[in-house]
Amino acid sequence: MKFNFCSLSSGSSGNCYYLGNEFHGILIDAGISAGSIRKFLKLMGISINSVMGILVTHNHSDHVKGLEVLTRKNHIPIYTSEKVWESILSQSHRITNDCIRTIPLQQKFYLAGFEIEAFPVYHDAPETVGFHICAGSKKITIVTDLGHICKTSAPYIKEANFLVIESNYDEQMLQTGNYPYFLKKRIQSDNGHLGNHQTSTFLAENINKELSHLCLAHLSNNNNTPGKALQTLQQVFMDKGIPFSENCQITVLNRNLPTNVICLEE
Ligand SMILES: [Zn+2]
Ligand SMILES: [Zn+2]
Repeated sequence: MKFNFCSLSSGSSGNCYYLGNEFHGILIDAGISAGSIRKFLKLMGISINSVMGILVTHNHSDHVKGLEVLTRKNHIPIYTSEKVWESILSQSHRITNDCIRTIPLQQKFYLAGFEIEAFPVYHDAPETVGFHICAGSKKITIVTDLGHICKTSAPYIKEANFLVIESNYDEQMLQTGNYPYFLKKRIQSDNGHLGNHQTSTFLAENINKELSHLCLAHLSNNNNTPGKALQTLQQVFMDKGIPFSENCQITVLNRNLPTNVICLEE
């Protein structure tokens, strides 16, 4: 069995990820316009009509921007926790209850041939989650907004064969950059975002030999560069004397453009 993954957009100006098999697909977040989502999918030869649902991590606009139109025009259901749904509804009354499928946390459900579980993470939005998705024997974890990796989220990240994880900011760039003090504090807090060093250290200490794809996600435009994120990862592994598996493909997700489709085979 074959699965395709594509990041349509990743970062504070919009997050949207596609995961599909030969029949159907799902989106994880819809933080760019519905028009862009349709256009990017079409470029990959995927019809929006084959998207069976949108998994939503939290209510920040860079994750929900396209929801209203996708539900209204394309009638795609939204899968998210009750609290996330309430918080989205309080921002946009144009999304109706018809399209909502509330899901409990840490309980498996099935959609488009995938077994899916939402797990809680620490972030400054109500009940933010990451998603752990089983596709055949492959385990995919997508976790893009979190201030730290806690005991609950860690196992889902460690287990993945295919991991999309936040590497939001370079610690030094954030420190010396021109963001106001309160914003720097917010980003660095336990409920903010993961820095390059934080992500790299966790990965180095918990690397799983079965990890075949690692995607660094949600990079800051002002406080990070793809080069810095990658360099930090390599440096931390080297400092700890941990070899990075040659079989693991690393991708830094582009902030504004779709990545090449990554194919996962059983
Ligand atoms: Zn975000
Ligand atoms: Zn967020």
